[in-house]
Amino acid sequence: MSTSTSNETPRSDDQPDSTRHRVVVVGSGFGGLFGTKALKRADVDITMVAKTTHHLFQPLLYQVATGILSEGEIAPPTREVLAKQKNARVLLGEVTDIDLEARTVTSHVLGRTTVNHYDSLIVAAGAGQSYFGNDHFAEFAPGMKSIDDALELRGRIFGAFEMAELGASRGENVDHLLTFVVVGAGPTGVEMAGQIAELATRTLKRDFRAIETHTARVVLIDAAPQVLPPFGRKLGLWTKERLERLGVEVMLGAMVTGVDERGLQVKFKNGREERIEAVTKVWAAGVQASPLSKRLSEQTGAPLDRAGRIGVNPDLTLPGYPEVFVVGDMIALDNLPGVAQVAIQGAKYAAKEIDGRLKGKPAQKPFKYFDKGSMATISRFNAVATIGKIRLTGFIAWLMWLAVHLVYITGFKNRTTAVLHWFVSFLGRGRSERTATEQQIFGRTALARLGRGATDLVSAPGELDAEAERLRRTELEAQAAEEVRLTDSSARGTKVGAGKA
Ligand SMILES: Cc1cc2nc3c(=O)[nH]c(=O)nc-3n(C[C@H](O)[C@H](O)[C@H](O)COP(=O)(O)OP(=O)(O)OC[C@H]3O[C@@H](n4cnc5c(N)ncnc54)[C@H](O)[C@@H]3O)c2cc1C
Repeated sequence: MSTSTSNETPRSDDQPDSTRHRVVVVGSGFGGLFGTKALKRADVDITMVAKTTHHLFQPLLYQVATGILSEGEIAPPTREVLAKQKNARVLLGEVTDIDLEARTVTSHVLGRTTVNHYDSLIVAAGAGQSYFGNDHFAEFAPGMKSIDDALELRGRIFGAFEMAELGASRGENVDHLLTFVVVGAGPTGVEMAGQIAELATRTLKRDFRAIETHTARVVLIDAAPQVLPPFGRKLGLWTKERLERLGVEVMLGAMVTGVDERGLQVKFKNGREERIEAVTKVWAAGVQASPLSKRLSEQTGAPLDRAGRIGVNPDLTLPGYPEVFVVGDMIALDNLPGVAQVAIQGAKYAAKEIDGRLKGKPAQKPFKYFDKGSMATISRFNAVATIGKIRLTGFIAWLMWLAVHLVYITGFKNRTTAVLHWFVSFLGRGRSERTATEQQIFGRTALARLGRGATDLVSAPGELDAEAERLRRTELEAQAAEEVRLTDSSARGTKVGAGKA
């Protein structure tokens, strides 16, 4: 959604007739949705403003990108999820400003500007991809943060095999098309690399005639000395060995210094440089907090860390603004990791505090994150997990991964179809969601070439009214001209057909 603004006068879009305490929630991700739900029974009116119409379950994005799940299964419409929660409404819009003094949140969508007033605010706008100052890499190496990203990657991955088949049929060298590079060896990178390898060696093995898909080269690159750093050295080594067994080349201590349409440049710790010819690149390294953190920092003096996360008070509020809570990936507090549970628990804490204040209850103790553990899958039946001091690997960890993800996928309908799709992919060799379109692959770059993105493709609200006014005038003028003609020709009141006899 474009962030561009219009000349339209911003309009107040508060809840009509609201006399209750107004809570505005920014974002429909883990923090936004769980915070809103936690206020279900509170005596408040909630307005959730988010730039997408869905709640995204990011941990399974890689399965959409590799054809296992459909986008709908991991991104139910927020409106539907909250349909029964009468004190909540959902507004589409990208928040571009939060005015802490005026207590307003300003958002835009397709040139329409909306302003909402709040009594309490929960900001949960998450984080985006970071290219470490090389944003131009994004054109050729999409990140993995949104449904758009996952569908684009799906198109690029399956499309590369198609182009390779075409090239190989003509006797051309297709190595660059059959090389897939994933940058970033955290959980997302490991999962992507593992899935692309499984696609090449299992799913697509029998589908092509001119290429041998199992010869595809899958490379996982990271500047760090091990894969999955937060999981510790032992699990990192175990994961690397499993990936290599799958056929993934793991390049550690390797920094990506250049990315273009045809490949990428890598520099190793010892100074050696290498060029990898690869049309398909996936960027799964680094996060940058929502720019709203900066906006809030400017108004409060709260510090920002290197990833743009804002320092908050121990109760998740902003210094000097106890009515404003910031949760999830946007915050820097006690080295909390950027994981879903931090956002969920933080949002529930904020909701409880808002409700408690309205009921006159004393303030809660400072926010304390309860670490339920971390896990990452490597391939079907293979995962790693850490729960407190316990380290699990292989099939048991994979079963745990399956159970946990089933619990957290939103909605019974989505859980049921996800299980069916997992059966198809993990027990069989098929993938139900291999469809990809040209628009998915090129839409992002095409929109980026328009100055104001999608806003350039629709009329501004003012223009639309002007056009309606012009049509109404034309119609009135035609009516007036007809009146004059009837008067001049003395035809007024004459019956149709009269006088012709
Ligand atoms: C590919 C991937 C895999 C992951 N895997 C795991 C995992 O296995 N386990 C785990 O615990 N965590 C995982 N994470 C991290 C986890 O998803 C995040 O920590 C979590 O989503 C953070 O929640 P949040 O509410 O802070 O942000 P998000 O869930 O990202 O939600 C942000 C919301 O804000 C909206 N938004 C952003 N900017 C604006 C704006 N300006 N105006 C209006 N709306 C806005 C977005 O559309 C979105 O609805 C993964 C993340 C990714 C990207």
